[in-house]
Amino acid sequence: MAEQPQYKGRPSLLRAALFGLCPKCNEPGMFVGTMSIDAVQFAPKCSRCGLDYDGFNVGDGPAAFLTMIIGTILIILAMLLEGAAHPPIWVHALLWIPLTIIGTVFALRLAKGMLLTLEYQNKAKETGRDDIVGMDNGGVDNARNDNIGKENGPE
Ligand SMILES: [Zn+2]
Repeated sequence: MAEQPQYKGRPSLLRAALFGLCPKCNEPGMFVGTMSIDAVQFAPKCSRCGLDYDGFNVGDGPAAFLTMIIGTILIILAMLLEGAAHPPIWVHALLWIPLTIIGTVFALRLAKGMLLTLEYQNKAKETGRDDIVGMDNGGVDNARNDNIGKENGPE
């Protein structure tokens, strides 16, 4: 028998990214909202299981890359439309400005959602201060420092 998950199951990578589902409990709400900047802003934590979205270090890495890809695709489409139909300039403005905004927000949401889900699934974690301090104060070092103190110290 398969191990029973604590919640109703983990969503697939694509489903989690598309609908902003929590990678741990499947609850929607990975992002603050669905409009403007809220649509690509992670919520602080999951409202159901409390998974700390702030602890993931997705950052805005995909933003510049995606914007360039979407820009290239839309410019090619605009040139094809211009060559085929030669529409007035307002048709271009009406078509490509909203498509650029929608395309960028959608792609950014998808990319950030996928990155967070992948980080969760692979248990990736940014090395924190505690990890470094822990490495610095290894038991071996402490023992050696104690011995040095005893050798050099007064009896
Ligand atoms: Zn959750």
